[in-house]
Amino acid sequence: MTEARATRIAAHAAAPGIARGRWTELRRADLPAPLRIDPGAAPAEVARLKAAANEAALELMALSDAVAESGHEAESAIFAAHAAIAWDPALLNAAREEIEARHTDAIGAITIAGRATAERLAAVADELIRARASDVTDVADRIARRLAGLPTDELLLPEPAIVVGHDLAPSLAATLPRDRLLGIALEGGSPTAHAAILARAYGIPAVVGAAGLLAAARAGGREVELAIDGSTGEVILDPDEDDVARLDERSRELASGRTRDLHEASLEAITPDGTAVTLLANIGSPDEAEAAIALGARGVGLFRTEFLFLERATPPSEDEQTAAYRRVVETFDGLPVTIRLLDVGGDKPIPYLPLPAEDNPFLGVRALRLASTRPELFVTQLRACYRAATSGPVKVMAPMIADAGDVATLLRLADDARSALRADGIAAGSVMLGVMLEIPAAVLTGPSWLDQVRFASLGTNDLLQYTLAVDRGNPALESYRDSLHPALLRLVGLAVEGANRAGVELSVCGEMAGDPAAALALVGIGIRSLSMSAPSLAAIRRAIRGASLEDLRREAEASLDAGSAAAVRARFAGLVPD
Ligand code: PEP
Ligand code: MG
Repeated sequence: MTEARATRIAAHAAAPGIARGRWTELRRADLPAPLRIDPGAAPAEVARLKAAANEAALELMALSDAVAESGHEAESAIFAAHAAIAWDPALLNAAREEIEARHTDAIGAITIAGRATAERLAAVADELIRARASDVTDVADRIARRLAGLPTDELLLPEPAIVVGHDLAPSLAATLPRDRLLGIALEGGSPTAHAAILARAYGIPAVVGAAGLLAAARAGGREVELAIDGSTGEVILDPDEDDVARLDERSRELASGRTRDLHEASLEAITPDGTAVTLLANIGSPDEAEAAIALGARGVGLFRTEFLFLERATPPSEDEQTAAYRRVVETFDGLPVTIRLLDVGGDKPIPYLPLPAEDNPFLGVRALRLASTRPELFVTQLRACYRAATSGPVKVMAPMIADAGDVATLLRLADDARSALRADGIAAGSVMLGVMLEIPAAVLTGPSWLDQVRFASLGTNDLLQYTLAVDRGNPALESYRDSLHPALLRLVGLAVEGANRAGVELSVCGEMAGDPAAALALVGIGIRSLSMSAPSLAAIRRAIRGASLEDLRREAEASLDAGSAAAVRARFAGLVPD
């Protein structure tokens, strides 16, 4: 029997892997409190602020170049985005107003302006946008530190340790000495915050949302061991022998699982009775392309381009977009790359795109609906897609299509982009145009217009929320959010029929495609192409290789008449290999 001494804290998984060892607190020297200045000193204080912001931006650009040279493109883009925030006139004007109207010193003014901007972002429902709040406070903090003459990046890890803190600024995360950074455990944060993105990119285990960890760790003292499982969110202070044995075993399993996944990447996803399914990757940035190929993706089924637009002060230029899309196309070297047009607006506002507040943002001016007021955003993006298509096969799909009217909008925008490129004498490749089926109305009306496009992809994340009236961002509705709901399966069945009749390709790119039981149901209904985040590819391939189409068809047919998702899940769970 081992002594019950361990303190267990529930957290969220942010970057997979196990870390065990000493912990160290993430701490920075405090900034001085805001001071009141003499009104006559305001111009000099504003000049100091501008100079410090410019220096911070240059420092960030240098950091971006250095990180790019070490081969970390995604992280480099984060620092470039931070430089854009440091140069952002909106942030500086807010700070200047604080100095001029309220006579706050420059350090206090930039801190207050940064916090106010971050609070606005943090109030947004979308998790990706909320995660950007820490970027703004990070940049404001960097400028304030320059003004105060404090070091901007400091956290020395004299010995290997897990870093514990409330939140971790991306710039600090990138400069931590990686050879001594065992893991990251944060009380705040979210899995889509940049600290988590960086941890994943660097292969460092991380957990976020570990409420109460700091107080418990401090109470236990520096000598107490900390263990985290970044794939499950488990956090244990002073783990007992059973915990240690279990986590060590899990660590070995994770390592051999990753090796196995890579070894199996070249296998086809084919049922034992010979039905092949194409497995594609969902990506959010060009940096994810290589890992997706290594795990066996046969193309990109969904490139969420929002990331390129969200982390910055102005929209990416046509050249920047072309370069980003071309990089993915070249990396996939002849395999198709599906670029999704911008899916922002409504619950995903972007700082440089002021949109009126909406009561029901998921039912609001989102994605392609934005084209009625901001067509140039889409035309620029489409021009970039056509330009990237000179390097390989490109498919472009529009989100939030409801009916033939939206399809006409897509075709018109694509036409405008092509004519403009022709007029400018710029080479355009050929692009397959398609739509996302993520609004029930699109599935239901699809048979009358699907022949106007070349392909469709079921966005089951939104299709589920719109079909079942289950807000996809509300954690209280977790038990209602099962994509194996028979209502959703019926819509998938209608989409398969409509696509077959129109002769267009049909794929699924919602999270459902990466859930083994749900993927099997989709194959049973007639789906032959699934797109998912790359780490799910191996499990889905194994599931497909283990189940006969005959069994899947039979279960799928019976599922359409089931009364609940639970009943369907029970049918397919037994067909998923362990
Ligand atoms: C979906 O809705 O299923 C989808 C793939 O798009 P997103 O999750 O980006 O809305
Ligand atoms: Mg969607």
